[in-house]
Amino acid sequence: IGCSTTKQNKVATTTSTGNKQLPIDRKVDSVLNLMTLEEKIGQMNQYSGFWNITGPAPKNGTAAEKYQHIKNGWVGSMLNVRGVKDVRALQKIAVEETRLGIPILFGYDVVHGYKTVSPIPLAEAASWDMETIKKSAEIAAAEAAASGLNWTFAPMVDISRDARWGRVMEGSGEDPYLGSQIAIARVEGFQGDFSEFNLAACAKHFAGYAFAESGRDYNTVDISDNTLHNIILPPFKAAADAGALTFMNSFNELEGIPATGNAYLQREILKRDWNFQGFVVSDWGSIAEMIPHGYAANLKQAAERAINAGSDMDMESNAYVQYLAELVREGKVDEAKVNDAARRILRVKFMLGLFDDPYKFCDEKREQETIGKKEFQDGVLDMAKKSIVLLKNENNMLPLKKEGLKIAVIGSLADDKTSPLGSWRIGADDGTAISVLEGLSEYKGNTISYAKGADVALGNPEFTQKTEINLTDKSGFGEAVATAKNADVVIMVLGEHGLQTGEGRSRSNIDLPGVQQELLETVYKANKNIVLILNNGRPLAIPWADENIPAIVEAWQLGTQSGNAIAQVLYGDYNPSGKLPMSFPRNVGQVPIYYNHKNTGRPGNEDPNSIFWSHYNDVPNSPLYPFGYGLSYSTFEYSNLKVSATTLNTGKSITVSVDVTNTSDVDGKEVVQLYLHDLFASVTRPVRELKGFELVDLKAGETKTVTFTIDEKAIAFYSANKKWEAEPGDFKVYVGGSSTATLEGNFTYTK
Ligand code: BGC
Repeated sequence: IGCSTTKQNKVATTTSTGNKQLPIDRKVDSVLNLMTLEEKIGQMNQYSGFWNITGPAPKNGTAAEKYQHIKNGWVGSMLNVRGVKDVRALQKIAVEETRLGIPILFGYDVVHGYKTVSPIPLAEAASWDMETIKKSAEIAAAEAAASGLNWTFAPMVDISRDARWGRVMEGSGEDPYLGSQIAIARVEGFQGDFSEFNLAACAKHFAGYAFAESGRDYNTVDISDNTLHNIILPPFKAAADAGALTFMNSFNELEGIPATGNAYLQREILKRDWNFQGFVVSDWGSIAEMIPHGYAANLKQAAERAINAGSDMDMESNAYVQYLAELVREGKVDEAKVNDAARRILRVKFMLGLFDDPYKFCDEKREQETIGKKEFQDGVLDMAKKSIVLLKNENNMLPLKKEGLKIAVIGSLADDKTSPLGSWRIGADDGTAISVLEGLSEYKGNTISYAKGADVALGNPEFTQKTEINLTDKSGFGEAVATAKNADVVIMVLGEHGLQTGEGRSRSNIDLPGVQQELLETVYKANKNIVLILNNGRPLAIPWADENIPAIVEAWQLGTQSGNAIAQVLYGDYNPSGKLPMSFPRNVGQVPIYYNHKNTGRPGNEDPNSIFWSHYNDVPNSPLYPFGYGLSYSTFEYSNLKVSATTLNTGKSITVSVDVTNTSDVDGKEVVQLYLHDLFASVTRPVRELKGFELVDLKAGETKTVTFTIDEKAIAFYSANKKWEAEPGDFKVYVGGSSTATLEGNFTYTK
């Protein structure tokens, strides 16, 4: 029997669950043994918040039915309920009014912060800084857990190559190695040691969701097993190995089978091959979605297919709670599968300590003291600065002088206190971000005048509303031009509204939305001294700006401290060190574009008169800005690349070292990147693959030697044998400050 001072739930007092010494699996089984079939299925049922908990209990309709289900012990988890008061009220029903008193899991999309908002995940990925990313997840977890939550539907670890897809903002970009490191950092940051300051993590969306055809959200996915294993799965595997307690499946199909009904993914790869012990939650309504997919005739069959394929928890399809018991009785679903799913869910509840104290996350005092703490503000500011990528800086236009400048600030995003919070902002109110104008106003030595110029979105769209981007109003251009004419420097803040990316927010065009491109060109005619600050949730195609604008800063959507972070970078109080986690195309027609592509049989234009090589007639094959690219106020030089041996032997490792010198008079930080090219193999291999990186602080003039280790693990891939293995052959090594690094070496791997 547990010794918690808070009220024990019934299971804890009637079984051995409170005994801290007993192995979890025995505790889980002791609970499972008490449960009826309906109660087990109840654990597999998740509802979204459906009534105003502080008001009277719902009397009729679906809400009343759901309410009754909670009382029956038929709801294992709730989502979209937050705040200690509400969580406690619901938990009380589960603990005190159901037969067994099994506590509820409370999940929410805590994607990049809660009340104190961190940069969007894609921006954080640009930091390449695992410690800071982990810290950011810790902050999010601490605040959300103080608000009663115990589970986040994050991290999204989908590798994405298509900037049209609105959800690229939630991920880590295009690279499986970087994505895996970040998956680990986020899982560890959220979950910590499962204390009351942590959340269970959820690696999503398993799998292939980001490969929606033509970048349109929820669209068909049709990819090879090779791409699935070599590109998409590694971050999921990393998250599982890091101990992520849960996975979420996805809306898309794979090989013609919706992920939710896909046993290959869930039962074979995840649960059998990876030995994943946690549970899989469906995506919202994704069990029911198998009907329009054309994979189930009705909801009952959808339930059957989902459980048989290994989907453990039903998020809002109402399929399991309605049909699963019947399916078991009819012999269509083996009860062992229900037991397995319920066991997995109970296990997570034990891991989180909910059986010891179901109110572990319900502490009003902690809620008050924790949310919005000063140290969290400092943490997200640090993360925001590290997420900024300097794309262009002609003639060292940046950093700006701190005194004597007349600065014109143009663009509605400069004055926007909501957009920087980005999509998936669940605990933060509108208008709680520091705007660029506010950030700049901290520097008093210069004078600032502001003109809006043009809107990026109509009004201030609420989370669920459609964001209008086809704006045509140019009435603000005149004022913008007048303001620019009168200034030494023009800072233009352009890009996307915070809700132009995210779920359901795909775009077929990835230029600057509305009339912003025209505004930029119009202002440029009046004053060419422009610093362009981009606020956006996806790579944008900005070829004109790249050609004409002297300084370009990629500032994404940086969260609560956005304006301060941007101002500190503009004034050189922080020397930018971010590198792009996703290629920026020249135009949307190049998409999908990614650095780790394959060679074709016709890779180069050796004959300048030939048109028969793989290319476009109108743009080069290369992106505008490649993966891994980003400038600094310092300059770095790479030299002296050494590969320790020409041969890598089985079971051994070799090292690659390089000297990196800060050749400028400013202290700075560089992300040193190692890429490999496997020249030939049983299946074709990418032209380059990131296999290591290190953040190196270099004082002005300083040189450091950076060393990477290469072993069989680094060169292994999913081969023609349908397994991960290292194959003998020749490899090239590249080290540098981006995926276009030119310093090279080589080695041979022999078995
Ligand atoms: C999204 C998930 C999210 C869920 C719950 C779905 O529409 O695809 O990523 O976790 O909703 O909000």
